[in-house]
Amino acid sequence: MKQAAFPSVGSIAQKTILRCDPAISAREAALLMEKNNVSSVVLEMGGKLHIFTVEDLLNFIHGEGAYSTPLSDLSIRRLDCISDNEKLLVVLEHLESTGSSHLGVLDADDRLIGIVTRTDILTSIDPAILLERKKIGDMIIRSEPVMFTADWILEDVMHHFRRAEDAIIVVDEGKPIGIVTTKDVFGVLSSGDDAGKPLSEYMATPVITSPRAASINEAMLQLKQYRIKRAIVVDEGGQLAGVISQSELISYAYGAWINILKNHSSELHELVDMLEEKARSLEHLSVTDVLTGLGNRRLLQIRMDEEKERVRRYGAVPFSLVILDIDFFKQINDTHGHLVGDAVLKLLSTEINRAIRKIDTAVRWGGEEFAIMLGNTPLSAAAGFCERLRAAVERMELVNGIQLTISLGISEYVPNEEDFTLVERADRALYSAKRKGRNRVEVEQALKLSS
Ligand code: GH3
Ligand code: MG
Ligand code: MG
Repeated sequence: MKQAAFPSVGSIAQKTILRCDPAISAREAALLMEKNNVSSVVLEMGGKLHIFTVEDLLNFIHGEGAYSTPLSDLSIRRLDCISDNEKLLVVLEHLESTGSSHLGVLDADDRLIGIVTRTDILTSIDPAILLERKKIGDMIIRSEPVMFTADWILEDVMHHFRRAEDAIIVVDEGKPIGIVTTKDVFGVLSSGDDAGKPLSEYMATPVITSPRAASINEAMLQLKQYRIKRAIVVDEGGQLAGVISQSELISYAYGAWINILKNHSSELHELVDMLEEKARSLEHLSVTDVLTGLGNRRLLQIRMDEEKERVRRYGAVPFSLVILDIDFFKQINDTHGHLVGDAVLKLLSTEINRAIRKIDTAVRWGGEEFAIMLGNTPLSAAAGFCERLRAAVERMELVNGIQLTISLGISEYVPNEEDFTLVERADRALYSAKRKGRNRVEVEQALKLSS
């Protein structure tokens, strides 16, 4: 599977964890949640973490529970936890499958460091919110801002203006007090001024600044509002920290979108892989017998339908159906117990699996009965196969000296016949084998109505 591209769950979890005493009432819990603006409280009971959420509270109140009931008297759920570097999709899947609304996030030392909800995950992958989370202070790593004190002569610093968006920040003890832009310089030049005066004569004041902690979104809104081309970023002391041009901001925003799209696509692939895997395993489960691992009747039906279609289309050799039943299996159970009985069923399944070809399908028909569809096999060849299987089972060496034998009945598919007539013939052949003394193979020919 591909590497996850979304943030880790640790980075998006809510870090405010309200731990409280299980003795507090539902009302006190509600007040605590409200005051701290969180949607759950965490309690430790019997050395284990539990959680009480807003939804629990609402359910409790709707169920007409008394507000004064202590939390310890309510049925409080255990807090499921996951590791802080877990992939978001895995966490979403976990939330889905457990039906929990909140998950605890544990650090490498198994300490609870946060709580994560489905909403946290979904909002963390919204691009707008991503721009909201990114601080402009983190962007000003590239170029040193161009800054001069107000007494510098414009002419002497003119070479700093190369592009339309260039600007000089005029500072006083490191704090921005004015700005001279390319546009100002053009104004000076076109009015025939000689640019020989200090920057204080040309600069615009005051300077609109943004704190380092402003988000990309806020900075972009400010540029729009003041119709300015750059964000002048100052640190906590008001000192110039850097300048970010509009185009840098926009390219960052686009970059964020591009990343989101890229990451989305890899995560989506991953999600598709996960769902496909799940669908495959569900599909496998739905056609598998739990005890023996062989197929079940559903699988036989699917494979028989395919085989019938093949016969219909290509006029191919029909298939044969074998139904086999363990002889005196009840005695094995009665003598050695059900667990041994189960083990015998599994061993027989392995033996059957070993005997069949790729194009055959063996299933547990029910109880101690099995069915085998032998693809592309007429009755006579099927009888040969069954005789070999019967002999092989007879030779099996089992625990407690158990002697296992089976009886088998075979029928051959007649094109266009109903399934039940095919099964009926195999069944009748099986019972004829039982009647004739067990541990044998019988066939039942289909009646030829016309020739
Ligand atoms: P026969 O030769 O006539 O087939 O005799 P039998 O004893 O095999 O037949 P009967 O139908 O009387 O008994 C089948 C037994 O198989 C009874 C049932 O408890 C047992 N059985 C069915 N399914 C299972 C299973 O999953 N595990 C175990 N251990 N026993 C099973
Ligand atoms: Mg039976
Ligand atoms: Mg039996």
